[in-house]
Amino acid sequence: MTTPVPVIALVGRPNVGKSTLFNRLTRSRDALVANIPGLTRDRHYGSATIDDQRVVLIDTGGFEPVAATGVAEQMARQTRQAVIEADVVVFVVDGRQGLLARDEEIARELRRTARKVILAVNKSEGIARAVAAAEFHALGLGDPMPISATHGDGVRALMDACLEDWLAEEAARREQAEELARLDAEARAVAAAEAVRLQVEAGQGSHTAEAFPAGAGADAHAAAGTGRDGQDAGTGGTAAAMAGDAGARAAEGTAAPAGAVTPDGAEGTGGAGTSAPPKPVRVAIVGRPNGGKSTLINALLGEERVIAFNQPGTTRDSISIDFRWRNRDYQLIDTAGLRRRGKVHDTVEKFSVVKTLQAIEDCNVAVLMIDAVDGVSEQDSAIAGYILEAGRALVIALNKWDAVPADARREVLAECRRRLYFLDWAPMLTISALKNRALDKLMKAVDDARAAATRKLSTPKLTRMLHAAVLHQQPPRTGPFRPKLRYAHQGGQNPPVIVIHGNSLDKIGDGYRRFLEGWFRERLALQGTPLRIEFRSAA
Ligand code: GDP
Ligand code: GDP
Repeated sequence: MTTPVPVIALVGRPNVGKSTLFNRLTRSRDALVANIPGLTRDRHYGSATIDDQRVVLIDTGGFEPVAATGVAEQMARQTRQAVIEADVVVFVVDGRQGLLARDEEIARELRRTARKVILAVNKSEGIARAVAAAEFHALGLGDPMPISATHGDGVRALMDACLEDWLAEEAARREQAEELARLDAEARAVAAAEAVRLQVEAGQGSHTAEAFPAGAGADAHAAAGTGRDGQDAGTGGTAAAMAGDAGARAAEGTAAPAGAVTPDGAEGTGGAGTSAPPKPVRVAIVGRPNGGKSTLINALLGEERVIAFNQPGTTRDSISIDFRWRNRDYQLIDTAGLRRRGKVHDTVEKFSVVKTLQAIEDCNVAVLMIDAVDGVSEQDSAIAGYILEAGRALVIALNKWDAVPADARREVLAECRRRLYFLDWAPMLTISALKNRALDKLMKAVDDARAAATRKLSTPKLTRMLHAAVLHQQPPRTGPFRPKLRYAHQGGQNPPVIVIHGNSLDKIGDGYRRFLEGWFRERLALQGTPLRIEFRSAA
């Protein structure tokens, strides 16, 4: 279960202080990704952390230097675009200049939308709250919040207000989605039970196990049991049970684990012995336009392998596609353009930073597509930084390898590694989506990364490794105490977190932390996943 990340857009006329506010928020200590360039020059994306909640920020700061359209027209367009992309819109006005006609134009645009708008009166330092806010009430967008982007006054309160509204909306959305899912499961369960009844009546018991695939059984089970999520519920065994003795006999006859019977009646994944099939790995293929994402998606899906489009319960959920590759199930998360693949040629239309970031939040494993001919761009690095910040497992695909001359390959690979030095734990594969090359290797790396991210690590094993690490290299002494590392346990999965207990651990520096990270990573074969090391001092 991933936590969704709210998208907050800053809108307003030029010079009110949007960029200043954006920079203050994104360049805080916690932000790795200060600036993800958009495709057009008029918007910047960044991320920030407020308490433990990550947010994505859009600065609609600069204007394209297009002479043909006036500033007013550009403002209106940007405002509309921000409203489409964002969950919360912060409308920034200038408390020193006061209310201008252009503010009113933007307000008119904003009042027309259902999106939550928070009005921030910037440059309010040294001005009484009531005075700063007074004239902006007239905009009809609620209580103005005085802030100072340069000094930081009121910025925290502004972000709290954004989050508060979003959390409330999010809770309502989730409730609605759960209600829909429940109704859907009920409907499917009724249909499945009815199908079973008809089969039994028709006296076709001996074929029952074949006739009722795992999916139907799961639905019936869901209705009888938790009723929450058909995917999580029991196996095809339930269908056999419901079909009565005949069905049970048939199931015994096949002697196959119920979970291995797939919906299309084909052979199972060979995971014999386990009753529940593994959950499909959720994959997001991300990267800047023209890296070859659509080509890869086409190669992986091949029209006939597309099993289902999962329509989102709510507008903010991702759309995903189930597909199989070499008998393994995956879900591909949409990053815009997936639905219209092949048909869209306009890169602006098929690439969306917000959709990319949301897909990263939503996936188990991200595949970062780099165009090996062009090399790692600024946008690629920024997306990579976001993947790291989100703690997602990652495989880097250097695509278009077929187009890289043989004598340049060594250097291209080395240069990509250099540019993405902060992801040295991620496997980097050379592929050709166009020529269908190394796709098996790619998907194997995806599986391995997922496995590494969710690996269970035992306390005795971790503690032994920790002691061996300390024997190999002691933590440096700082002041009168040498930090004492006593034992380690796993504090979380996905990404793995190793918690180290001991004394005076707050003195341990980044160098030693990196040493430990490398030590554990190598010995636990944690390739493809970020690894977090936390220290807990007893004293
Ligand atoms: P944008 O065009 O809306 O992105 O505005 P900028 O962030 O570029 O800011 C425009 C000008 O306002 C710059 O000179 C900033 O230094 C100034 N500015 C921004 N925030 C504040 C503030 O809180 N107080 C004051 N006094 N000036 C500010
Ligand atoms: P997207 O914007 O990331 O979805 O990129 P596309 O899949 O639309 O690909 C952009 C261009 O790169 C198209 O002209 C593709 O034919 C080309 N392309 C994609 N993969 C490869 C590859 O492996 N080798 C070569 N030579 N070209 C590729």
